Amino acid sequence: MKQLLILSGKGGTGKTTIASAFIKLSGAKVYADCDVDAPNLHLLMVQQDVPQIFDYYALPKAKIDSDKCIECDRCRQNCKFDAIFQNEFYFVDEFACEGCGVCELVCPVSAITFHQASAGDLILYKNDKRVFSTAQLKMGSGTSGKLVTEVKKQMQTAAINTEFAIIDGSPGIGCPVIASLSGVDMVLIVAEPSLSGISDMERIIKTAKQFKTKIAVCVNKFDTNYENTNLIEQFCQEKNISFVGKIPFDHLVVKAVNNGQTIVDIECLAGRAVIAVYERLITLFNKYNNKGENRND
Ligand code: SF4
Ligand code: SF4
Repeated sequence: MKQLLILSGKGGTGKTTIASAFIKLSGAKVYADCDVDAPNLHLLMVQQDVPQIFDYYALPKAKIDSDKCIECDRCRQNCKFDAIFQNEFYFVDEFACEGCGVCELVCPVSAITFHQASAGDLILYKNDKRVFSTAQLKMGSGTSGKLVTEVKKQMQTAAINTEFAIIDGSPGIGCPVIASLSGVDMVLIVAEPSLSGISDMERIIKTAKQFKTKIAVCVNKFDTNYENTNLIEQFCQEKNISFVGKIPFDHLVVKAVNNGQTIVDIECLAGRAVIAVYERLITLFNKYNNKGENRND
């Protein structure tokens, strides 16, 4: 399965708006939302089917049996994550516990055990025509990179014989982005024409290069800062990275999103620009994947 990933350095750049438009334009039968902290692709790609929902378990959490505990304080003193507190009894803060197991080792009376705690939901929409894999991490659960890997695995398992998939990646540059990048064939970075946007873009490009993934860049809301848009274009030219176009700010985008539509479902300037970006990108995607070329080596 060839995979196209859409990324951005931070939230609010229009990454999901562009991903949903690409899904519509390509007629992709398989897609995933890897923004497990705040998934929202399902709001634009409205699903009629009832999803299958599976518990996602991350790291096991420590638990103190107050009947056995002799209040020696060793566990609290040795917990590097400050997850153990003393109130009326000793107890573990599940949000802080990283499941390292040190407390269990130092406890002289075996009062500490581990239990699996649900860290979120893994969600699958599947019918004859389409597979949509997504997830929702519980607040404060951490391990979002691991859940992103599960979302992608679920997508691939549910759609074994499909040739093409589009993945809406996680914002930022942390663990979930690295998990999103693993195994994809091309990444489109949606850049924002601000100084922080340029810095975010450069950092993602650096990360993506380590995965030997083909990279393309587009700028969203380019007309909010022409100077920075030019800097992004220049940067791409100097680094031999494919620049696939610019999308203007368009107030109709918000209207489409609020109606649960993609921007290519309505007639608007941004929608037309996204179609042009898509056409350039998919030409490159096919070229790289048919000929095995790699511009970013
Ligand atoms: S498992 Fe590790 S992080 Fe969790 S309470 Fe014990 S020592 Fe602290
Ligand atoms: S190490 Fe064991 S006995 Fe000591 S305070 Fe912690 S749970 Fe209680």
